[in-house]
Amino acid sequence: MTLDDYRRFYAEEIEQVASLTSPALVEAFARVPREQFLGPPPWQLASAEVRAMAAAGLIQLKYRTTSEPRHLYHNVVVSLDSAKDINNGQPSALATWIAALDLQGGDRVYHMGCGVGYYTAIMAEVVGPGGSVVAIDAQPDLAARAQENLSGYHQAAVYSGDGAAFDPEPCDAMLINAGVTHPQALWLERLREGGRLVVPLTVAINSTLGQGAMLKFVRRSGGFSAGLVTFLAIFNGGNLRDPELEAPLRNWLGKAVATGALLKMKSLRRDVHEQDESCLFHVQGMCLNSAPCE
Ligand SMILES: [Zn+2]
Repeated sequence: MTLDDYRRFYAEEIEQVASLTSPALVEAFARVPREQFLGPPPWQLASAEVRAMAAAGLIQLKYRTTSEPRHLYHNVVVSLDSAKDINNGQPSALATWIAALDLQGGDRVYHMGCGVGYYTAIMAEVVGPGGSVVAIDAQPDLAARAQENLSGYHQAAVYSGDGAAFDPEPCDAMLINAGVTHPQALWLERLREGGRLVVPLTVAINSTLGQGAMLKFVRRSGGFSAGLVTFLAIFNGGNLRDPELEAPLRNWLGKAVATGALLKMKSLRRDVHEQDESCLFHVQGMCLNSAPCE
């Protein structure tokens, strides 16, 4: 089997485990050469499950070392900077989040926290040459690697910058690849009508990692619909976290998992209102609500 064959089989595996329905997304996984985004071998691989258990302090994290490109075509995370818990993430998880963006050919996409740009390339393939992907990473070394790795995609632009300050301009879809306590107002404002924002609301479990829920907000004429995509563990988005929200979010997310409150969530309200029984998580500027948006 050639490396192209392994990549094709990997795409089919991701299609099955992430229940992908977009042929364009599956095709992108079959086409983009992951090994070209990760720097020269050897590479350090781990399963996402092992990494999550290690983050929770249950086991010692061990990576497996390999220089064989075909080993990258499994559902594994690849360490980019183990001291900072930065990885090229688990393909089935990223595929699920990208699928939630409902990307169409020609869409404009914002990818915040692009790392070395592998998943940015997947999205660039899906939106095609008529679309565009604007990506940033707060770490200049990662942004520089992504820039180099994506130089063949004229529809992708990579910046090094602060996710709280960066203006992605009007977008059809946004993938936030770092754990936050709340969606930034600018992201919601920059979503076009029908635009999709996929963003992880997390509580920090240590200085680098958080756990929580990947949420999806869709801009509708009457506001924003809201839904749960998956539960996850993800790198903390440092300055995208509001210290005042950490405690209420920790309290609420813990209970929400136990009571299924996340499944009752239908909308995001940003207007000033009195808290009532439809409010699932009600803090200043953000209310995850069980009432559908109008
Ligand atoms: Zn409310």
